[in-house]
Amino acid sequence: MRDATRIIRSTLTPVATGEPIHHGPVFAAPFHTPGDPEEGAYTYARDHNPTWTAVESALAGMESGDGYTAKALVYGSGMAAISAVFSAVLEPGDVAVLPSDCYFGARALMQDIFIPLGVEMRLAPTAGDAQAALLEGAKLLWLESPSNPTMDVCDIAALSKVAHEAGALVGVDNTTATPLGQSPLALGADFSVSSDTKMIGGHGDLLAGHVAVREGATDASGMNLYDRLAKVRTRSGAILGPMEAWLLLRSIASLPLRLERSCENALALAEFLGTRGEVSAVMYPGLPSALGHAVARRQMRSFGPVLSFVLKDQAKADDFLSRAQLITDATSFGAIHTTAERRKRWGHDNIPDGLIRLSAGCEAIEDLVDDIAQALA
Ligand SMILES: *Cc1c(COP(=O)(O)O)cnc(C)c1O
Repeated sequence: MRDATRIIRSTLTPVATGEPIHHGPVFAAPFHTPGDPEEGAYTYARDHNPTWTAVESALAGMESGDGYTAKALVYGSGMAAISAVFSAVLEPGDVAVLPSDCYFGARALMQDIFIPLGVEMRLAPTAGDAQAALLEGAKLLWLESPSNPTMDVCDIAALSKVAHEAGALVGVDNTTATPLGQSPLALGADFSVSSDTKMIGGHGDLLAGHVAVREGATDASGMNLYDRLAKVRTRSGAILGPMEAWLLLRSIASLPLRLERSCENALALAEFLGTRGEVSAVMYPGLPSALGHAVARRQMRSFGPVLSFVLKDQAKADDFLSRAQLITDATSFGAIHTTAERRKRWGHDNIPDGLIRLSAGCEAIEDLVDDIAQALA
């Protein structure tokens, strides 16, 4: 079956006469649990919830591939998912190799929480697979491709291979690509992580995150990765509420359609921006001129909804955003509405003042192009 069909069908309930065809949110803290708890039965909603089960099953379906079945766990945000992987893997004295250009929150989490606990962080850029040179003695290799916000690409399969040879586990922040656009587990990574706040939630109205692993996968000591992540979630209490879990599930059925349109629009906008004299650089892995295009074409099924481009300076970028009528000036990405922001305003990344990160929504491309043309002029 094709991906779109499988995913759209994956959010329906099993056939049972008279029952709703969709899952609803199950609001519960305790479940009826008389006497000794029964194996597999729902007991308390920090451990499990039927709405998680439904959404995790749909996410696992997206993360599964040829020759392996994935299992997924949902968390209260993308950062909670990243934090779960770091907590599951890293102990004092361990080394983690992160991209110097990844989502700043992952680096800040290391800086503020894990380094004070005795973990060492090594940083190298995503482009050119530069992280490969830092793997000696590492416990975790953390990748993000395309990276955020400069849209650089690394070779996930090649890096996973050298990391495993060095004895490290590999986690990929797959938020920008989505599991439909790129399959980190199939490429050899151990953890596929996503902020579902973005494209999978898709409407800018909820925070959520997930981690997927191959069923039965263990680390070198035999620790089951899924069980470990589940324990981290139950112990830390970083859970997703049932209402958000249900909204996420509802969004998944339209993901194939939204992603297809957003990716088409992103490529068309990247091509259009490349023709404009006001724009000094366009960063999008789908452009044949992009540095990482060959690798991206090999490892991605679609190039994602996000692109960045550079205007002369802060004034030009601010001016562009205030003149655009169809681009909501807001952070985050992956919603059905087109959004953009001048990314340097946060001060997190070493990028040009005039860099705009744009998330292509599902509006008619002709309207977006007309609007961008008038806002640039
Ligand atoms: C937004 C984002 C995160 C963090 O996700 P939250 O849901 O905001 O916690 C992590 N990684 C990437 C690439 C992101 O864009």
